[in-house]
Amino acid sequence: MIQRTLKILRDLIGFDTTSHLSNLALIEAIQLQFDALDIPYELSFNSNNSKASLFATIGDGSVPGLVLSGHTDVVPVDGQDWSSDPFKLREADAKVYGRGTCDMKGFIAVCLSMAETFKHADLPVPIHFAFSYDEEIGCLGVRDLIEELDKRPIKPLACIVGEPTNMRIVSAHKGMLDTVCTVQGCAGHSSLPDKGVNAIVAAARLVGKIQSVAEEIKRKGPFDERFTPPHSTLHVGKISGGTAVNIIPELCEFEFEIRNIPGQDSRQIANKIEDFAKETLLPDMQAVSSNSDIQWQVLAQFPGLDTPNAVPLNDWMKKVLNSDSLLGAVSYGTEAGLFSDIGIPTIVCGPGSINQAHRPDEFVEISEIEACLEFMQSLIEHLQKGKLPLQ
Ligand SMILES: [Zn+2]
Repeated sequence: MIQRTLKILRDLIGFDTTSHLSNLALIEAIQLQFDALDIPYELSFNSNNSKASLFATIGDGSVPGLVLSGHTDVVPVDGQDWSSDPFKLREADAKVYGRGTCDMKGFIAVCLSMAETFKHADLPVPIHFAFSYDEEIGCLGVRDLIEELDKRPIKPLACIVGEPTNMRIVSAHKGMLDTVCTVQGCAGHSSLPDKGVNAIVAAARLVGKIQSVAEEIKRKGPFDERFTPPHSTLHVGKISGGTAVNIIPELCEFEFEIRNIPGQDSRQIANKIEDFAKETLLPDMQAVSSNSDIQWQVLAQFPGLDTPNAVPLNDWMKKVLNSDSLLGAVSYGTEAGLFSDIGIPTIVCGPGSINQAHRPDEFVEISEIEACLEFMQSLIEHLQKGKLPLQ
């Protein structure tokens, strides 16, 4: 089974599915395999039909099943120093190298290599595969798929998102809101600062506000000790503005993110900053020039994960994994919060280490792929015995 899985992984790595490119060649390869096995699936496309996510059902779709979820896109290799072609699987030292081996085509390869076994296992509940696109740029692609799932009369029993956790169970992570702020001021000669509106100064005051909100949250909470740090955080990562030192800058743009603990709404935090802009900054700016403006554009957003029914779902997973390997809460985000938000109890558990994700010479240890295959076999045995998640 491992050789077969590595062969599939080799094929998957060969498709350059960096998020800004199409993933359709990879999806078509999966379709071919499912067509041959007579496994039904549905596709949902993006607005210009260049990318698709795939939702497959193995077994009786008229009863609630178990979703195995993964994203097909990978992060760019630009500017990274790779020892070999990132889109050609290379095996060495009991590891396989390539972009996406760890995050997260390894898990998808395991799912695909198990498809036929699932089909012939005569399980009491169906297995669904949910393969998305554009996860790495803000969990965008899975949203249509989840919207479709939400409309169905039959909700899945549970969902496992196979992001790299070294096959340990993660039932909580922070959410994220990534926003670009564009400040429009009014240009003028630098010797007459009162005649213009300095966009850099306004942006700097907003950055100061972001920092003071961050410090307030750090001091007062809310706190969730499962996370490091145990509170929501705000961070400004990019800023640009101005043209020359003797011109009052007309434009300044900066990008910031909020990483919220599951119990705190990122929108509520963002509103504090936007209210400050609207109520305190903008009136002064517009008194000088009515064209002054402050615009906000959300680039990416996903909710935090805090699995309802975490204890019973974790207990079931521990039995299937035959280990006590609970990782609990992690600081990176996944699509899991989106599944959880429509009422599907969801956990994250997959092969490989998050430390290898997004890096040059990304790899997954072959033993991790083997452990994931063993997990799938054990999953079949548990389901065959009628041991279902949360029942
Ligand atoms: Zn990932």
